[in-house]
Amino acid sequence: MVRGAVQTGPLAYEIRSFERPTVGSDEGLLRIEACGICGSDVEQYRGHLVRPGMFPLIPGHEPLGVIEEVGERAAERWGVSVGDRVAVEILRPCHSCDHCLTGRYMSCPNRDGAYGMTPLSRAPSLWGGFADYLYLHPWAILHKVSKDLPPEIAVMFNPLGAGVRWATMLGEVGLGDTVLILGPGQRGLTSVIAARARGAGTIIVTGLSRDEGKLALAREFGADHTINVEEEDVVARVTEITDGALADVVLELTPIADQPIRDAIECVRHSGRIVLAGLKGGKSVQLVTDRLINKGVTVRGAFGVNAEAYIEAIRIIESGRFPLERMASGTFELADTEAAIQALADGDAIHTCVCPDGGSALAGAMTSREEAADAG
Ligand SMILES: [Zn+2]
Ligand SMILES: [Zn+2]
Repeated sequence: MVRGAVQTGPLAYEIRSFERPTVGSDEGLLRIEACGICGSDVEQYRGHLVRPGMFPLIPGHEPLGVIEEVGERAAERWGVSVGDRVAVEILRPCHSCDHCLTGRYMSCPNRDGAYGMTPLSRAPSLWGGFADYLYLHPWAILHKVSKDLPPEIAVMFNPLGAGVRWATMLGEVGLGDTVLILGPGQRGLTSVIAARARGAGTIIVTGLSRDEGKLALAREFGADHTINVEEEDVVARVTEITDGALADVVLELTPIADQPIRDAIECVRHSGRIVLAGLKGGKSVQLVTDRLINKGVTVRGAFGVNAEAYIEAIRIIESGRFPLERMASGTFELADTEAAIQALADGDAIHTCVCPDGGSALAGAMTSREEAADAG
């Protein structure tokens, strides 16, 4: 039997058993090693992303695992064999429509739903990463990852993929560019890494007083300056740091607050780029759009991550160049899935994941460090 952590409704989880599916020629079965958790999991847990008929389901849309079984045609198409470690993308696009064929597969209108968001009622039920196994649909997108990394680090392909896409692909961060990152969460930190890897010049990150630990980590990953927005004026500080030149690229990653959007417009240089990725809960935001025109600013909305960014992110992780283990705030067993989501929701954790088999020695090391800290 296969265990799955099932969300039955808002704030409600239970462990259920499932039949292990049989695998046809075009499909596969993944043994989950780790499934990462992000802000969307918190929203889903609270019931904010609810659609009718969605529950019960197995959440978890950032799965990493080992190919347990794969059909003959699927193995050829994906270029994988049993035993390979792969990261799985959230979407299952059709691979045939105009969107897919022109590289915009994230907006595929024919897609077969998304991992972590497909109801149990649809066979074979194993559509989420918070389980022992994940069903690999013929349209799934897989990326091979080195088996030399602890699963808790390898699973960071997802947040790092976001950092790569937002900073370097949408923000077009180039050699020597000044980059301002508003918000020091999981994706703000991975944006620091991506910008650093791409050869950025000065990197500045903002946060609140309670983000002190995250801002310290941003500096460890390569940020040159951090700004506490509760104590300092962002625009004045950025002007001072850059000697009036302002930022070539601004990434706006803060949730709900709208002041950071106005700050982004003031902090970007003439003809600079702004990437908006911080969702504001659907509310309208007051802007003086004349400022965008007069400064000739390019504004881009960041929707999701694509294969190009995932592949680059996996290369950065495999390079071992950045101390990514510093972002690993906790590894949780399947039965503790709610606790893993709660830890991220509480705000202090940076990256948590669920490892059905308990994770690697890294998890043990982290736990014993925490125990030592608690004891001390
Ligand atoms: Zn996510
Ligand atoms: Zn398509």
